[in-house]
Amino acid sequence: MPTIFSQIAAGEIPARVVYEDETTMAFLDATPLAPGHTLVIPKDEYPRLNDVPADVASELYATIHQLVPAVEAAVDADASTVAFNNGEAAGQEVPHVHCHILPRFEGDGGSNVHGIAGDLPDLSEDELDSIAEDIESRA
Ligand code: 5GP
Repeated sequence: MPTIFSQIAAGEIPARVVYEDETTMAFLDATPLAPGHTLVIPKDEYPRLNDVPADVASELYATIHQLVPAVEAAVDADASTVAFNNGEAAGQEVPHVHCHILPRFEGDGGSNVHGIAGDLPDLSEDELDSIAEDIESRA
């Protein structure tokens, strides 16, 4: 069963499309958290960022780069939060990679990315070194 976003990309479900090229697409979120809340997707279905091939990732970022200033200007935003919920445990509901461009306004009452974390970990210097080495070895 294709995701709801694949159905939007195929033109089978209506959406307020604001940008489209061969590989990517952007449309307004159906339940906006702010005016101009926009989603950017690869048209092909990849559940998580981890699954996106490098060439598609480059094109996806190029579209995000183009859309962020356009979205902010359209709604006269002061800033934006640009984020992926990457996986179910991170709150991703639609298993088709999508970037949220969420316009932000001075005093809008929202939080920053620090506000989405749960309990803060208590990590020693050794543990931090070990984690950094492990990531570096896999990158
Ligand atoms: P997630 O939690 O997966 O990162 O966010 C999914 C987003 O997709 C939500 O913000 C939700 O409002 C939006 N959404 C879900 N279904 C539809 C739809 O059919 N059309 C549009 N335009 N947005 C949708």
